[in-house]
Amino acid sequence: MPPLRRPPTSRSIALPPRSGAVVADTDVLVVGGGPAGIGAALGAASAGAEVILAERYGFLGGNATAALVMPWMSFHTRRPQPPRLGDTSLMPSDHGIGEPVVAGKHIDVIERLIAEGGAMRPSPGTGYTVPFDPEIFKVVALDLLDEAGVCYLLHAFASGVLEPHDPKGVIFESKSGPLVVRARTIVDCTGDGDIAAAAGAPFEIGRAQDGLVQPMTLMFRMVGFDPAGFAGYVEERPDQWRSVHGLWELIEKASAAGELDLPREDLLFFATPHPGEVSVNSTRVTGALGIDAFDLTRAEQVSRWQMRQIAKFLTKHVPGFSDAYVAQSGVNIGVRETRRILGDYQLTGEDVLAARKFDDVIARGTYPVDIHNPTGKGTDLRTVPAGDAYDIPLRCLLPRDVEGLLTAGRCISGTHVAHSSYRVTPTAMATGQAAGVCAALAADGGRPPRQVGIDAVQTELRRQGADLR
Ligand SMILES: Cc1cc2nc3c(=O)[nH]c(=O)nc-3n(C[C@H](O)[C@H](O)[C@H](O)COP(=O)(O)OP(=O)(O)OC[C@H]3O[C@@H](n4cnc5c(N)ncnc54)[C@H](O)[C@@H]3O)c2cc1C
Repeated sequence: MPPLRRPPTSRSIALPPRSGAVVADTDVLVVGGGPAGIGAALGAASAGAEVILAERYGFLGGNATAALVMPWMSFHTRRPQPPRLGDTSLMPSDHGIGEPVVAGKHIDVIERLIAEGGAMRPSPGTGYTVPFDPEIFKVVALDLLDEAGVCYLLHAFASGVLEPHDPKGVIFESKSGPLVVRARTIVDCTGDGDIAAAAGAPFEIGRAQDGLVQPMTLMFRMVGFDPAGFAGYVEERPDQWRSVHGLWELIEKASAAGELDLPREDLLFFATPHPGEVSVNSTRVTGALGIDAFDLTRAEQVSRWQMRQIAKFLTKHVPGFSDAYVAQSGVNIGVRETRRILGDYQLTGEDVLAARKFDDVIARGTYPVDIHNPTGKGTDLRTVPAGDAYDIPLRCLLPRDVEGLLTAGRCISGTHVAHSSYRVTPTAMATGQAAGVCAALAADGGRPPRQVGIDAVQTELRRQGADLR
């Protein structure tokens, strides 16, 4: 059976009115338990708030666990090369790795992951990324929330708010029926800006010229991989970090023979903490929007076909993969970009590429502009000036036309180009922590987040170890 297609004409019917059980009143409600949500919940709890975090899945981590997005990208100035597969020896030192620019809760999570054997410390050998194990991340996230006194509700899909423009509470669909959590301040960490959009905040989608978003990717893990066989066969192209020379030729041959038919130019792999395992970031579905059920359905189908094709190609043709197999794919296809909620300031590509500074900085980023082509092959990669980082102002977390709400993570206020940089895991966690802190201070003072002074937010963030420079 084909996937259900969008009907050619839209019809609607009135739904029965209903009521929901009010299950909690809290200072801060964080919706979405991805990197931003975890950062927000920990930041708000450390600032003294009573916090509830609600998540649609039965585990935390967002893209990092549900979509198997690995590794944590580098958060150090001057972008290093990514790790060579299975190679933990020193990389060439002339990349001049600078300083880390994201600290605070993000480092606490990484340290705990390392202590639990679930991550590798960023180093020249990892290309300053953090390879991690998503299963260990799921448990560590729960441990950290428990220790911080954060209450969580899982299997709860947020479907609406109590009131537009000043939501005061969120409605969740659950196996127990509709549930309502009321809160003094809400932080939207859904990645898609579901709560802000439901509350009436304006938003943008896609690039300025045509509204197209970055493609989606179904990530998967292959085990039984032999790094020695692979590394002994290929060599890195000096001009191309995404592919390797011998592999490139095999891809071209298989594409010409019709064995590979992918809308991307190369195959991209990442090492994990486990030597016999590789994370494959190589499927690509364009023309699909991650907040459209019909697009998502088609994207899941197409990406799984691509995964099968790639796995067959690797095991048949690529040394090191002959005994490998797909051990796991994402619970869902990875969604890079959907709504960008418009806030009091919109961060631009120019801000990112000029490493611009703001007085109301609440987080910093240094990851390049990294736009996977929304229409097919190719990636637009532009680095932040060497040794430097850009600031993210608090105003990017304050949605226009709405009070009592902040955004964090990949749905904050920025252009398509800026988003392609700040969307990565470390920066998402940092904006999460900042939103959590501002939400806690707002709840404590009985005022909207906009009226919390930036000095108070920055002072508390610094106390929590955040790097604002
Ligand atoms: C294919 C792909 C590859 C990437 N590669 C890398 C990489 O190598 N390194 C890197 O650092 N970053 C990478 N990224 C970016 C990074 O993974 C994400 O952008 C990051 O996870 C953003 O964090 P977030 O918390 O804002 O959003 P998400 O991770 O999307 O988390 C949102 C959370 O909210 C939940 N949620 C959503 N809607 C609702 C709702 N209505 N009700 C309740 N819960 C809800 C979701 O289940 C999820 O847990 C990649 C992204 C993709 C898609």
